[in-house]
Amino acid sequence: MPSVDLHCHSLYSDGSQTPTQLVEQAAAAGVTMLALTDHDSTHGLAEARLAAETVGIRLINGVEISAMWQKQLIHIIALNIDPETPLLKSGLQEQQLARAKRGRMIAEKLEYLGIEHCWQGVLALVDHDENRVGRAHFAQYLVNIGKVKQLQQAFDKYLGNGKPAAVPMPWTDMTTAISWIKAAGGVAVLAHPARYGLSQTKLRLLLADFQQVGGDAMEVSTANEKPNIILNLAALAQRFGLYASQGSDYHGINMPWLKLGKFSELPVGCKPIWETFEEIIT
Ligand code: AMP
Ligand code: MN
Ligand code: MN
Ligand code: MN
Repeated sequence: MPSVDLHCHSLYSDGSQTPTQLVEQAAAAGVTMLALTDHDSTHGLAEARLAAETVGIRLINGVEISAMWQKQLIHIIALNIDPETPLLKSGLQEQQLARAKRGRMIAEKLEYLGIEHCWQGVLALVDHDENRVGRAHFAQYLVNIGKVKQLQQAFDKYLGNGKPAAVPMPWTDMTTAISWIKAAGGVAVLAHPARYGLSQTKLRLLLADFQQVGGDAMEVSTANEKPNIILNLAALAQRFGLYASQGSDYHGINMPWLKLGKFSELPVGCKPIWETFEEIIT
C-alpha cells in the first residue's frame, strides 16, 4: 500500500474524525506522509501537526479549495502551504461564509420539501459551526432520518446539480485559487480530474488552462479509480507537464468505502509531487 496519502478530511469539513484520530489512524495504516486537506478550511492543521509529531509521521499542510473553471466546479488541493498567509486566509474565510449562507438556503429548500428541523439537525453534525457545513452533512442528515438509504441517493434526489435543493455557489475562480496557493508558498494540485464528468477533449482544455495559470500537479491515483483511468491520467500529466499526486480522499466513517493509504501506486513515468517538498532535517 502507498505510504504517502495527500488527500483526506477531518471533522473540520465533512470527515468524521478529529485531526488527531486521523493522524493516528494514518500511522497505524503505514502512512508516513499525510496531507490533511479539508474543504476550504485549514482549521484542523494545528491539531494534526501536534499529533503527527507525537506519532512520528510527516504532516503536509493542505486544503481542498472549491473553485470554478468556466462553469465547472473543480477542486484544487493546495499542498505545503503556510496557512497563516493573509491572502489565503481571507480567501478561505470568504468561502466559509459562502458555505454557511448556502447551508441556510439548502435547509430552507429541504424544509419547504417537508424535511423538518433540517438546519438544526445539520448544525448538530458540525458542532454548531455553520462555516463547516457541506452538502455531505445534508446527505448524512437525510440518511439519519431515513429519507434516503445512502449518501449517493441524497445527491441524486435532492442535492446534486439541478435537483430541488441545489444552490449554485459563488466559489472563487481557478486562477484566483491558484494565486492564493502560490502566495502561501504551496503547490496547486487538480483533485480527482476523472470525477468531473468531462469529455477527454474538455479535460485536456482544463489541464492546459490549469497548467497555464500556474497549476503544478494533478491527482493521478485516487481511491476506487479503474486502472485504465489511472493510466490515462498518468499520460495526461506527462503531456501537460504536471507532477502527479495521490490520495485516498478519506472521510472517516461517513464514507466507509474509503480507507487511508488505500489506492493504487502511481504508474511508472509519473513525477511524484511530494518529491519536490524539501526534506526536513532534524
Ligand atoms: P460541498 O463542498 O459542500 O459542495 O460538498 C462536496 C462534497 O460532497 C464532496 O467532497 C463529497 O465529499 C460529497 N459528495 C459530492 N457528491 C457526492 C455524491 N454523489 N455522493 C456522495 N458524496 C458526494
Ligand atoms: Mn468531502
Ligand atoms: Mn473533492
Ligand atoms: Mn476531498
